[in-house]
Amino acid sequence: MATLAMPTPAPAPAPAAATSADAALLPVYRRAPMEMVGGRGIELFDADGRAYVDFTAGIAVNALGYGDAGLQAALHAAADGLLHVSNLFRTEPGETLAAKLVERSFADRVFFCNSGAEANEGAFKFARKWARLQGGPAKHEIIALRGAFHGRLFGTLAATDRPSYRVPFRPLAGGISIVERDLETIAAHLDAERVAALVVEPVQGEGGVRVLDPGFLRELRALTQARSVLLVLDEIQCGLGRTGTLFAYEQAGIEPDVMTLAKPLAGGLPMGAILVTADVAAAMQPGDHGSTFGGGPFVASVANYVVDRLSDPAMLAHVRDTGGWLGGELRELAQRSGAVRAVRGVGFLWGLDTHESAGAIVARARDLGLLLVSAGDHTLRIIPPLVATREELSRGLAILEQALRRP
Ligand code: PLP
Repeated sequence: MATLAMPTPAPAPAPAAATSADAALLPVYRRAPMEMVGGRGIELFDADGRAYVDFTAGIAVNALGYGDAGLQAALHAAADGLLHVSNLFRTEPGETLAAKLVERSFADRVFFCNSGAEANEGAFKFARKWARLQGGPAKHEIIALRGAFHGRLFGTLAATDRPSYRVPFRPLAGGISIVERDLETIAAHLDAERVAALVVEPVQGEGGVRVLDPGFLRELRALTQARSVLLVLDEIQCGLGRTGTLFAYEQAGIEPDVMTLAKPLAGGLPMGAILVTADVAAAMQPGDHGSTFGGGPFVASVANYVVDRLSDPAMLAHVRDTGGWLGGELRELAQRSGAVRAVRGVGFLWGLDTHESAGAIVARARDLGLLLVSAGDHTLRIIPPLVATREELSRGLAILEQALRRP
């Protein structure tokens, strides 16, 4: 039998050192060494009894912080009901949640899934089905923007602008490309015959906390409308109250055709949602998409509670007021420290560009009792629980100021 001459593969990099306790886990995360065992308000506690002010909120998931009494009650009530029923049958919590999201947004129909990447994968499929009915199979391309993060599955990875995440997994899904974030370039790529959808984060989170200008979003809306291209907004990180309105698009005075949600939607339980207009919904038939777990009664019951809390005008006013104050504090702190090149953000979603590597500052902050997450090599992300008060945030800011000082 002929043997194939295969090039010698490069040696695999040694896996990250695992402690004996995490040796059975796939080493795909650069985990901090401490083990988290509890939380209260905006603090997390490790197994050694140390408390940390949490400016990560489970990466924009734990909007209500830790140990919220109302959320605990909703969880217990949901646990007394049905946990799972196939989507072959109706259940009330998912129907109520969908009706609530429809009532509070641009959308007419909702599909539930289990994560952000899954929501975007579904949105891309819906866009392709809609576009095929409009313009035939040639109209299938999906355009994403420079700096975008839409997930790590095959379709979403192709729309995620991080070479280090993409390269090892090529070939990625075809018909998806990334273009520069300027109107002229986008206009040149939005060919009505070939393009199904433009996908945009109104605030790019992982890509460095870049708040897209409301005027730019309005131009994108006008352009997509004129070219019969769907505007898909990924509000997985910036939606559900984080920018101070229930949805970030409200601040630009536009409405998308499709929007994806996840992260805080079910208070820490896995849930994603795809919201669509009636026009997009009309393209989808039974069998076109599905999910075993999506929108199950347990998770949807909890999400009903969370969405009500995050829609509360008092909560949104708190995020706007306290978020504006937080931005002012961060700008002053940046000036005092001399360690920060730029401060960007809105509401409870801020980014600080640092001279030093973000990883070094994240590690120092952790040692001092503050949890931070980066958004790129030289950007710190500040995404506290939305319930945080000025007093609680001030404690974290004091630690941040210390952590910005090089030893
Ligand atoms: N889209 C955005 C804007 C995100 O911030 C994320 C996660 O960080 C995702 C998609 C992917 O979500 P998930 O990790 O739930 O798949």
